[in-house]
Amino acid sequence: MSLLSVKGLSAAYDGIKALRGVDLAVAEGEMVALIGPNGAGKSTLLNCLSGLVRGQGEIRFAGAAILGQEAYRISRRGLLQVPEGRQILPEMSILQNLQVGGIALSGRAPTYRVEDVFALFPILEERKSLPAGTLSGGQQQMLAIGRALMGAPRLLLLDEPSLGLSPLITGQVFAALQKLNRDGLTVLLVEQNARRALQVTSRAYVIEQGQIIHHGTSADIAANPAVIEQYLGVA
Ligand code: ATP
Repeated sequence: MSLLSVKGLSAAYDGIKALRGVDLAVAEGEMVALIGPNGAGKSTLLNCLSGLVRGQGEIRFAGAAILGQEAYRISRRGLLQVPEGRQILPEMSILQNLQVGGIALSGRAPTYRVEDVFALFPILEERKSLPAGTLSGGQQQMLAIGRALMGAPRLLLLDEPSLGLSPLITGQVFAALQKLNRDGLTVLLVEQNARRALQVTSRAYVIEQGQIIHHGTSADIAANPAVIEQYLGVA
């Protein structure tokens, strides 16, 4: 059974449709990519899952219908989003930012400790007492991921984690995500960097104008001529 199952999901802003009948599923332990151009509806889809945007249709997570639930209730179920733009608390220390992530636990047992986050991203330990606002963009992305881990995710949603990062740092962030997935974490990754996303995931969905136009294994999607032409260019 799928950990996450989305059926016929639609969403609109002031009557303008952003999602049109999206079907998508993620099984426990998978790492799945959602790729597509600017404005295709990727963030809207993630925000529907985490309760920040109200959609219509069906969203089931770990067996429960969650569409229409408040965002804080959804995060307490372990469906946790690392937001685009990171949204760290710049005045607070790195350690305090991580501790804030524990709020989403709300009685559930932690699955990652601060030490686990530091093992994954050693730079955060080196700087743990500094204000988070002193971190570089890539380090802030690491902190945002670490903070979500502190909330014991059963499914981690990432919205454009490579945005604004150098290829080197992007590689480090994606390697960390792969390690988390190998250790059992389920991940849904939204990316404009289609090539990178298809390399690190096992399955992928392609969304355009609010509709899923392709889905399959990431290897098959990466070999699809239409996807190559639109997203991958000439290798
Ligand atoms: P990007 O990579 O640019 O974030 P995206 O694939 O995540 O793109 P969305 O941000 O979900 O796409 O946007 C889907 C559509 O909904 C776009 O046409 C966008 O202009 C519109 N949209 C998104 N957020 C809002 C909003 N808060 N109010 C009005 N329209 C919005």
